[in-house]
Amino acid sequence: MINRDRLVSTFLKLVQIDSPSGQEAEIARHLMAELRSLGLTVERDATGNVIARLAGVGPPILLSAHMDTVGPGRGVKPALKDGIITSDGTTILGADDKSGVVVILEVLRVLVEQDLPHPPLEVALTVSEEQGLTGAKGLDLTTLRAGEGIVLDSGGEIGTVVVSAPSHDKIGAVVHGKAAHAGGEPEKGINAIVVASEAIAAMPLGRIDEETTANVGRIQGGTATNIVPDRVEIAGEARSHDERKLEAQVQAMTEALEKAATRHGATVDLDVERSYSTFKLSEEEGIVRRAMAAARNLGLTPALVPSGGGSDANILNAGGITAINVSTGMEKVHTTEERIAVADLVKCAELLLAILGLEVGG
Ligand SMILES: [Zn+2]
Repeated sequence: MINRDRLVSTFLKLVQIDSPSGQEAEIARHLMAELRSLGLTVERDATGNVIARLAGVGPPILLSAHMDTVGPGRGVKPALKDGIITSDGTTILGADDKSGVVVILEVLRVLVEQDLPHPPLEVALTVSEEQGLTGAKGLDLTTLRAGEGIVLDSGGEIGTVVVSAPSHDKIGAVVHGKAAHAGGEPEKGINAIVVASEAIAAMPLGRIDEETTANVGRIQGGTATNIVPDRVEIAGEARSHDERKLEAQVQAMTEALEKAATRHGATVDLDVERSYSTFKLSEEEGIVRRAMAAARNLGLTPALVPSGGGSDANILNAGGITAINVSTGMEKVHTTEERIAVADLVKCAELLLAILGLEVGG
C-alpha cells in the first residue's frame, strides 16, 4: 500500500530544503503545492503554519508534524546506505521532523490515489517547534474541528507512543550587586557572582524525582578581575509531570536566589515563565487504544511512554485536542549523527494508515 520508493525520494528531497526555525517559507511553499495537488484545501496561517484539510467520513482527526529543524541544518546532504539514511556528518539530517512530515504526505497520497475511505483529516505542519513550540502556540484551534490528534515527532521503535509529557517553566534571574574597585575598596562592593554561586549551590538540581528535573543552563556576569561584579544573569528551567512538584521546585530555585541575595544585601529580579503544560493520556483514551490496536495488528509491540520534553502535542492537548505523539523511528536527533531507517519510515506510514482505520496488509 505504501510506496516505499516514493516515500524515500520525497524524504530525501525534503531534508535538502533548508528550514531552520523561523525560515520555513520555502519548505512551506513546497508542501502546500504538494498538498494542493492531492486535492486538499490549504492555507498558511498568520504564524506560518501550513493548515490543510481533506474531507472524509466520521470524526475528524488532526495529523501534525513540524517543518523546522535545529542547527547545523543548512545544506543537508543525505546519504542512504544499507537501508539507513544519514547526513554526511557535517549537519543534522532533519528526520526531526521531516520524517513526520513525509509520513503524513505519503499517507495522504495513498488515501487519495487509492480512493480509500478515511475520516476527515486536518493537517497542521507547524513552524518553530524547536523554538519553544512557537508555531503550535500560534495555531487557532477554534478553526480546527478535530477532537483527536496524531503528532509524528518522537523516536523509539515504531509502535512507541508518547502519552504524557511534563510541564516546563523557564526561570530567569538577574542578580544585582554593587560594583567597587577590587583592590582599593572591595568592602564597598557586593559581589553578584558570589551571590549567584551560593544560590545555585543551594538549589536542588538535576533529577529531582522520577517526574521532575531541573537545570541551570546559562550564567553570565562580571567584567574584569579588578572590579567587584555588580550583575549576573542566570537562566534555568524546571520540568515535571506533576504541577505541584513543579511549583515546589521553581519555588526552591527562586528562594535560593532570594535568600543568597538577602544574605549579601544584593537584590534579584526573577522571571518565571511557563513554556508549556503537561498532559497525560490514559490507556482507555480512544486514540491511544486505536494506536495500540493498530500497532498490534501490524505485528508491532505498542509501548506507551512518557516524554522528558515537550512537543506540539503539549499545546494541542492543552487546547482540547487529545493528541498522542507517535515515533517515526528517528534516532540521535539534534546531532550530526541523526539517522532513520527506511524500514521504519515505511512501518510508521503503515501504522498511521492503520490508526486511521485502514486495513494494512501485513
Ligand atoms: Zn521534533
